[in-house]
Order: sequence, then C-alpha cells, then structure tokens
Amino acid sequence: MNAWKTLEQNGTESEILKGLIDEADAVVVGIGAGMSAADGFTYIGDRFKNNFPDFIEKYNWLDMLQASLFKFPTLEEYWAFQSRFIVLNYLEQPAGEAYIALKEMIENKPYHVITTNADNAFYAADYNMDKVLYYQGEYVRMQCSDFCHDETYRDDELMRKMAAEQDGMEIPSELIPYCPKCGAPMEKNKRTAEKGMVEDAKFNAQRDDYNAFLKEHSKGKVMYLEIGVGHTTPQFIKHPFWRQTRQNENALFVTMNQKTYRIPEAIKSQTVFLTEDIGETILNAHKK
Ligand SMILES: [Zn+2]
Repeated sequence: MNAWKTLEQNGTESEILKGLIDEADAVVVGIGAGMSAADGFTYIGDRFKNNFPDFIEKYNWLDMLQASLFKFPTLEEYWAFQSRFIVLNYLEQPAGEAYIALKEMIENKPYHVITTNADNAFYAADYNMDKVLYYQGEYVRMQCSDFCHDETYRDDELMRKMAAEQDGMEIPSELIPYCPKCGAPMEKNKRTAEKGMVEDAKFNAQRDDYNAFLKEHSKGKVMYLEIGVGHTTPQFIKHPFWRQTRQNENALFVTMNQKTYRIPEAIKSQTVFLTEDIGETILNAHKK
C-alpha cells in the first residue's frame, strides 16, 4: 500500500470517488438501503405516511420496512399491506438519478454489484442485470411459505389487483395466492433472519457469477465500494468486503455513509470514508 494516486491528492469527496473509480482495475459495488434513500426511495416520512395512513393509524408504525416484517394476523391483511408495498417499492418505482449516475461511472470497466435491497432500482435505472446480485430477494417475487420447493413466482397482475381491490386493510379472500405444489400460502420472496428465503435457479446463477467475479479480481487495484450499507446485515456485504480487502494489499475498501462504523485495524490503512450526502457526492462525481 498503496498504489492509489487519487489518495495522494487533496480532492473533494466527489473528486475522490470519481478518481478512485477511474483508477481501479475492477469495482465491486455493495448497495444498501442508504443508496435508495439517496434517490428518495425512503421507508419513512411522507412516502410511508401518504401510502399507508390506515395501517399507521392501526399500528402506530414509523418505518415501512419494519412494518413489512410484521406478523400480520390474517393473510387478507398481510397481502393488503404487501401488495401496496410491492406496487410502491417495485412495480411503480421510477428510475433514480444517483443509480443512473453510478451506472454510467462504472459501466466501462469490470464491475459487479451485490445488493441487500429488494426494490426495483437497478431494473428501473437500466443496469445490465447479469452484473447485479439481489442477495435478499426481490419484493415482487413470491415463494411457498413452507419452502417446499426451490422456485419463485411473479404475478404483477395479481399484485396490482390485490392493491386495488382491498377494503378496510383486507384483500378479498379469493385473491390469496397458494403454493401450486403443496397448497401452503405464498409469501414475499425476501430473506428474513428466521427463515432465510427460497433460493431459486436464477438466484443461484447470479450468486455463482458474483463469486466468479470476485475470484477473477482477487489481485490488483480492486475497489470494494460500499454505498449506504448499514449494520443490520453485515454478513452479506460489509464483512465479505473487509475480508477481501484484507487478502489483497492493493485493494481499497471505500465506504459511503453519513454514519461511520468501526473498521478492523487490519484494513484501516486500506479504507476510505466518504461521509457526505450520498446522492450529491455521486451526482457531482458523475459531472466531473
Ligand atoms: Zn409449497
């Protein structure tokens, strides 16, 4: 350490970000909820209040993501909430500016993305989806709640129908989806701490591609760029990025987050903290 010329200059955070991406041989990007929030896709505040006033009145929730993990008393209510959530955070989610700017900055070099988000942001911003691993599932997909087989299902029309035809926070019972193999109720294909998730063939192929990329780029100036990743599930992005950085003396761990987290001593000299506003930093870097 260290071969990164950008770090010898005194640039702004957006200059540093742009310089490091340009200088890197390969970029591995880890995306968490903070990146979607930077583009306005937040789970709190008006976006939640305007779309779920009835649920908020009933349960006093403050956070839509937390609410989505609630053990709903009935399947009618579960799908009333989830279908509205899925229309908002997936089917009708528009393209985000920061997502587009990031794509344009990395797309001309070897890169791969892993995300713990399950929203539609990468599709909406027109990423090459062969290079994106959705580690925690995608909101729009369904799985058997008994995990009886390894397939996931997508039915946009049903989601829209459940969102539109609900009344008093309940969907009509006849719309409830059931597993085509065992008859158990279906649920959202989203990894949870207790159950994990159904990992279908597409997921396994995406994970293999991601791991192959990491292996292929285990030497040289590899930039592990973590954006808006908190500490709720560090085992998916943060800890693997630390390990990979530690195994390659020319690698750099770059973390964009307004909160700073403790970094292991062993990679401190290979770590760059970018603590300014994520959206502004990316958009300004993109202009340079
Ligand atoms: Zn089943």
